[in-house]
Amino acid sequence: MKFISEYRQPEKVMALVSTINDKLDKLAPTRPLQIMEVCGGHTHTIFRFGLDKLINKGIEFVHGPGCPVCVLPRQRINEAIEIAEQEDVIFCSYGDAIRVPGENGNLLAAKARGADIRIVYSPLDALELAKQNPQKNIVFFAIGFETTTPPTALTLQQAKRQNISNFSVLCHHILLEPALRSVLDDENVRLDGLVAPGHVSIVTGQQHYQFCNDEYQLPVATAGFEPLDFLMALESIVDQVSNHQVKVVNCYQRAVSETGNKIAQQAINDVFTLSESSDWRGLGNIEHSGLSLKSAYQSFDASLRYQLNPNRIAEPEGCRCANVIKGLAKPTDCPLFAKGCTPENPVGALMVSSEGACSAYYQYNVEAKPITLSK
Ligand code: SF4
Repeated sequence: MKFISEYRQPEKVMALVSTINDKLDKLAPTRPLQIMEVCGGHTHTIFRFGLDKLINKGIEFVHGPGCPVCVLPRQRINEAIEIAEQEDVIFCSYGDAIRVPGENGNLLAAKARGADIRIVYSPLDALELAKQNPQKNIVFFAIGFETTTPPTALTLQQAKRQNISNFSVLCHHILLEPALRSVLDDENVRLDGLVAPGHVSIVTGQQHYQFCNDEYQLPVATAGFEPLDFLMALESIVDQVSNHQVKVVNCYQRAVSETGNKIAQQAINDVFTLSESSDWRGLGNIEHSGLSLKSAYQSFDASLRYQLNPNRIAEPEGCRCANVIKGLAKPTDCPLFAKGCTPENPVGALMVSSEGACSAYYQYNVEAKPITLSK
């Protein structure tokens, strides 16, 4: 197939759904297979295309920690606002992040108070702003997993080459593997399979998930974001469970290779080093789970340029973001869901992001049973 639309063709989708349902009927699991889609993009694929209603009761979808905006800690939002409100700063961010609540509001509210905050589509847009505004300090809010880290790295390489001194980044780049380990190490989490995110895999390569097989005996399939992509991954996991196999299967071969994008990996290695630890909303503090700038790039580090308040901030009261991020609760289990927390007035980041599980449940009016935690 050559075109995206071909991965949505109803007759092909229904044929594959029917095959998967037949296989599930034959397998007849004693409880639904718990299959975690790591990425929020996949969560939205499931509900946008109604796959949860088409697949029979043999699968329970468990939503994972792969939405980068959802795991942004409140402290980092506070820091972003602290920088953005400085007199000479133009603060640049991806669109989703400006609505994520910190302790006292979000970047959008800071913009309404007068801070110069701009939405950009790429760190290169922010670098361009730095060139156009030499009298201002341009700070880019660099967030995300391995998918968005290479553009930040390449932009910083360019800024260094061109000696642009009024550009810096507030860095919250994070790594998928430690987040997955944190979830898989939780004794309450019992998964039967993992759908790995296609975009991270393009950078890291398929081999990135081998530890899930070797250390957690967990079947994995990498998927793209169209319905057929996702269903192919589901079929692979059902097949692996049925045949007592544990493999990493590439169901997104048009984009993902075994070893990933070497140029992107090289750029990351040139610019970034592993942080000692990093804070995650919902998952807490995880060792070696984030990236910071290598010493050659430290002059571009906004957290060193600005004196930031280092205090950690607790999650808001009543919010179940932590359990939803770990797949231990469904958004509808949260007492604030659609009441105190809505897309217009979000309490947690999962209601903000276009990849957030809570926003998917709200947007697609999903009714879910409480999650099964049986071993
Ligand atoms: Fe967090 Fe809101 Fe979702 Fe509750 S409904 S888990 S507060 S984002």
